Amino acid sequence: MARKIQAIRGMNDILPDQSSVWLYLEKTVASVVKSYGYQQIRFPIVENTDLFKRGVGETTDIVEKEMYTFDDRNGESLTLRPEGTASCVRAADQAGLLFNQVQRLWYTGPMFRYERPQKGRYRQFHQIGVESFGMGTADIDAELIILSARLWKKLGLLEHVELQLNTIGLASEREAYKAALVEYLTQYKDRLDEDSQRRLDTNPLRILDSKDESTQAVLKDAPNLEDFIGEESQAHFDLLQAILKANGIAYVINRRLVRGLDYYGKTVFEWVTTHLGSQATVCAGGRYDGLVEQLGGKSTPAVGFAMGIERLVLLLETLDLIPASAKFSTDVFVISMGEAAEVASFVLAENLREENADLVVLRHCGGGNFKNQMKKADKSEARFTIILGQDEIEQGICQVKDMSTGEQQAYALDDVAAYINAKL
Ligand code: ATP
Ligand code: MG
Repeated sequence: MARKIQAIRGMNDILPDQSSVWLYLEKTVASVVKSYGYQQIRFPIVENTDLFKRGVGETTDIVEKEMYTFDDRNGESLTLRPEGTASCVRAADQAGLLFNQVQRLWYTGPMFRYERPQKGRYRQFHQIGVESFGMGTADIDAELIILSARLWKKLGLLEHVELQLNTIGLASEREAYKAALVEYLTQYKDRLDEDSQRRLDTNPLRILDSKDESTQAVLKDAPNLEDFIGEESQAHFDLLQAILKANGIAYVINRRLVRGLDYYGKTVFEWVTTHLGSQATVCAGGRYDGLVEQLGGKSTPAVGFAMGIERLVLLLETLDLIPASAKFSTDVFVISMGEAAEVASFVLAENLREENADLVVLRHCGGGNFKNQMKKADKSEARFTIILGQDEIEQGICQVKDMSTGEQQAYALDDVAAYINAKL
């Protein structure tokens, strides 16, 4: 026998018993974002490597060690997208949708990062991203956060996630802070973990994220980013908080929250949960006013977030929050005996689908005796089985068996749809 080829480590198949949860989540998101006026945008999974180097930042974890980069047959360096924001900006700007315009966009799809696979962390994972362009004021930051809160509410997750909020100020404020932080940390360089020592030169803000105890101890007396935040950034942050408060959105301020990517400024936020171990963040985002220009476009303010579908699915499953209506189930199983009945069963099944587009109608295929077909009907766990034989065809009726009670009754072919729809 030929050797079977397995999926790539960290890249998962979503099997039929799971895909209904994904569909439920995606449908819920689509309806919530639409209600705020966001329109979907789709862009390729592969882009020029430079887009992510410039967009995400050379010194980020993503670009340093997580990208799937390869040369195509022309020798051009391409990368499987590790996130959506850079591509979204590229696509929207290329189509002339950004400068001097307001856009509310969202997207969904696979992202690729070469990470150590574990629960809630994969090499192909899926994000839903929501981005807004052309609005520099804090009200749009608030709108996005309120939108995400509405989504959690719809999914039953609101009480299981916590909103963490911070401001990381303007680029100039961060530069001043970085200099002070580096000056302070350099004195204790040998007490920092290896990654943090390296980041002193490349991306010092990320040191604040370090989980290392010794590094955290050194950080206790480090200068605070808060003290470097200027008036404009502070006013922006104050307005955001005022709007959230007025809308009853609870949050905590996490001064250590800086986010990993280069492009953020002013607002950053994360929704975290205590139910998923160390893969705690289900949604993360912030303001990135500099990115469009950094990618060659005309300066355009922007703010957005991305959520991880796998982590949200895990959370919904862990908390048992998937509604019965979201699960796949068969409503009607149709069986028939004899050629004329088989032909008629198609007409009947089509009629049922025509009358009620939500009905799941399974027509048994491949013939077989009555007993075997009934076994298939049992296995399908359908609510009703419809039985058509030669006698029924001649009388213009069919037998309808209610599988929960075992009761069976004859109905005119013309009436059966109405009967079933009334029962479901
Ligand atoms: P983390 O700190 O967990 O690595 P991140 O800061 O790298 O997350 P973002 O780039 O902000 O993550 O992506 C937004 C969201 O996408 C995350 O909050 C998470 O829910 C999800 N996500 C990121 N990386 C992965 C992954 N490798 N597998 C599954 N989900 C992921
Ligand atoms: Mg990461």
